[in-house]
Amino acid sequence: MLKNIEGVVISETPFKENSKILNILTKEGIIGVASKGCKNIKSPLRLISSKLVYAEFTIYHNSDRLSTLKEGHILNEFTNIRTDASLIPYSVYIYLTDLVRQVFTQSPEPLIYDLYISTIKKIESGLNPIVMMNILEIKLLDFLGCPIELNACAKCGSNKNIVTIDPDIGGYICKNCYTNEPIYDEKTRKMLRMYYLVDIDTIKELKIKEYVIANINNFMTSYYDRYTGIYIHSKKFLDQTINY
Ligand SMILES: [Zn+2]
Repeated sequence: MLKNIEGVVISETPFKENSKILNILTKEGIIGVASKGCKNIKSPLRLISSKLVYAEFTIYHNSDRLSTLKEGHILNEFTNIRTDASLIPYSVYIYLTDLVRQVFTQSPEPLIYDLYISTIKKIESGLNPIVMMNILEIKLLDFLGCPIELNACAKCGSNKNIVTIDPDIGGYICKNCYTNEPIYDEKTRKMLRMYYLVDIDTIKELKIKEYVIANINNFMTSYYDRYTGIYIHSKKFLDQTINY
């Protein structure tokens, strides 16, 4: 059966002499396809058969065996992401793809795919890749079953006199429960909440102070380490590239 699917190639494995097996992340899940002869220089499948290509693929769908790729056309080359000299947008793209793949494996919700594609498109349009990455990360926590407590003190449940937020405690801390956690100021806390609530598709521009961006990124890194149990190799490279 012929089927059209939109998705991003998340892995490519050599297969036979001239072919590859591709895993494509789609709204409906991760689909494995054989791209026959795609390593041949004249193959029409050559360009679309590599990791991080975002395209519409036409496949001969086979639910019992491996599906086969018939053709495809690239939907967005993400040229700005790929050519940015800082390497940050591209590193973020690699990391978010690896992250979404893992989250999807735990919780195959179509909405995750939509959030991911929207985020990558916003980065391509020039919005700060670190901010967009953190926005997606905080939204993905719901699917991982470990959202940040952003409504009340994570220790006592009070919503009065909040003084900081702590990645180890998992949320806000009030004055009474405070011991010696690092202080994240009110601007940072409010912005973190905005990240969680904002509709990604509606973001047109970002006006956020550098220190707030850095604070939130550090917070998210610690929170992910502490609560998600996810380890992603490409995040290490990204952290070195960002260099906060
Ligand atoms: Zn408290």
